[in-house]
Amino acid sequence: MIDYCGRFAPTPSGPLHFGSLVAALGSYLDARRAGGTWRLRIEDIDPPRCPPGSSDTILRQLEAFGLHWDGPVRYQQTRDDAYAAALERLAEAGLAYPCSCSRKQWRDHPVYPGWCHNGPCAPDAPLAWRLRSDRGLRPVIWQDRLYGRQCLDPAALGDVVLKRKDALWAYQLAVVVDDADQGISDVVRGVDLLDNTPWQRQLQAALGLPEPRYLHLPLIIGDDGQKLSKQNLARALPEDQRVRPLLHQALAALQQTPDPALATAPVEDQLTAAIAAWDPMRLTPDDAHRAPDWPEA
Ligand code: GLU
Repeated sequence: MIDYCGRFAPTPSGPLHFGSLVAALGSYLDARRAGGTWRLRIEDIDPPRCPPGSSDTILRQLEAFGLHWDGPVRYQQTRDDAYAAALERLAEAGLAYPCSCSRKQWRDHPVYPGWCHNGPCAPDAPLAWRLRSDRGLRPVIWQDRLYGRQCLDPAALGDVVLKRKDALWAYQLAVVVDDADQGISDVVRGVDLLDNTPWQRQLQAALGLPEPRYLHLPLIIGDDGQKLSKQNLARALPEDQRVRPLLHQALAALQQTPDPALATAPVEDQLTAAIAAWDPMRLTPDDAHRAPDWPEA
């Protein structure tokens, strides 16, 4: 039986851009090459940041590029109980604590100094929940398939927030709970999330969850040399015929040297060839690929 299960887990804070396409494609190809399952999880835990309709746009964009997922789409908004149960277990084990401090109060420190370790400084103020990063697995050591051996001390990165003062769940907790619940064996995502992995490993260890394999993919940058992101208004991917050359470019960004004869071929044909040829070891850690431009509709 094939034990590979991958996932694409976008935050629907806007439509997908070329950087998200490369992350989705890398994860998809890795799963399909392994004969595994590929799941889609919409990380919509922060509704104020997620404009209505973005999730549906993302689903349509993935379909337009031929990136079909297995099984139902998971929406994190439906997962409150699971996150609450995980937080409760961490709190009981002394690995999570309530914190009343505001960013402004500790702005002169590189990371949150843990003033609420022995109880909230202002118990009547709104409380966030933080990870006790000094008590968990330390240092965190893991092997990234591209970036190699990683060794980091989560305490040096600070006590990450697990639940916010406005009662919204934070990414680190939600991602770990869902990766385990969905049986994800392989996390393939952008290298911008490499430095989040120590907290996630620490949470997995604290909750007794399995450790997935990790493959972080090199960055896609914009014309300004910065990482493409929804914040810097990276262009939304098209959903029409223009997807064909863009898929070809995304394969090139993953160093897969796609056949130029397929540059405008239907996405299904491009993907079939790309799955057969997928070799992530063609990537090098310091690649940074510039996002292409494409014509207006
Ligand atoms: N939701 C995160 C994002 O869109 C990615 C989560 C992950 O791949 O771990 O940046």
